[in-house]
Amino acid sequence: MEIKTVGVIGAGTMGNGIAQVAAHVGGLNVIMNDIKQEFVDRGLATIDKNLARLLAKEKITEAQKSAVLGRIKTSVDVADMKNADFVIEAATETLDLKLDLFKKLDAACKPGVIIATNTSSIPITRLAAATKRADMVVGMHFFNPAPVMKLVEVINGLATSKETSKATAALAEKLGKSPVEANDFPGFIANRIMVPMMNEAMYTLYEGVGTVESIDACLKLGFNHPMGPLELADLIGLDVLLHVMNVLYDGFGDSKYRPCPLLKKYVAAGYLGRKSGRGFYDYSAK
Ligand code: NAD
Repeated sequence: MEIKTVGVIGAGTMGNGIAQVAAHVGGLNVIMNDIKQEFVDRGLATIDKNLARLLAKEKITEAQKSAVLGRIKTSVDVADMKNADFVIEAATETLDLKLDLFKKLDAACKPGVIIATNTSSIPITRLAAATKRADMVVGMHFFNPAPVMKLVEVINGLATSKETSKATAALAEKLGKSPVEANDFPGFIANRIMVPMMNEAMYTLYEGVGTVESIDACLKLGFNHPMGPLELADLIGLDVLLHVMNVLYDGFGDSKYRPCPLLKKYVAAGYLGRKSGRGFYDYSAK
């Protein structure tokens, strides 16, 4: 099916970013959906602000900005997805909420429409099983911020067809992204490697092998990482990392994924990283 209109479910951090690239880079019509008008309006305001920044840097013209915004329609009813040729779900990361959404999306979407999910931690196979089109359900995992980060993991659930996977990768390319294919196991590829690496950095601190500064210096200066693992952990949010470690630990049942006790303690203390002003570093002065 030719994709002219993309439906995006959820107008939050990821949803509005995905809607922006679909309308801007992809030149596609977008239906951006959320549960309340104020949430879609907020998503649209974020896109407007991002485009204004591109305009100020002379990367787009005023006419292009208006054209991009003109291609984005808003919706507060999942039934509006009947007009979409491809749907990307980026709603809140809650299993029951997504299972319910996938049932509704399956009923609303035309036959032959692929329903992709941006989930970071819920098995694609599980969401697919809530529909009658498991072969057309796929993971399309963007990275934050979606308009900037090049990677999209295309994740094949157990029943995802080759055609679905190919069409999803082709759409990612149309949006200016570099798709990589992965199979549906906890953490997929990127988070399965990166998050335990940050967890190991925390163990290195916990066991007194190094300090926050020396650990970050090792990865930056020894391996040319742009940020140290603890600095990066603070940026992502320690609660988010603890959640991913628990998903890996529960999903594989392997002790190598156990979350570092220091990570658990920091989260319990409300030291969540930059967003709370305190993590491995102190941001309260900034
Ligand atoms: P967010 O909280 O910023 O946005 C979620 C939005 O979904 C909210 O606006 C909420 O109102 C809306 N929503 C909730 N229920 C809905 C429903 N039934 N129908 C329509 N909209 C609904 O969350 P986010 O960070 O954008 O995450 C969205 C998804 O993207 C999650 O699955 C998450 O795992 C994934 N993800 C997040 C990141 C990240 O760094 N934030 C990165 C990759 C993937």
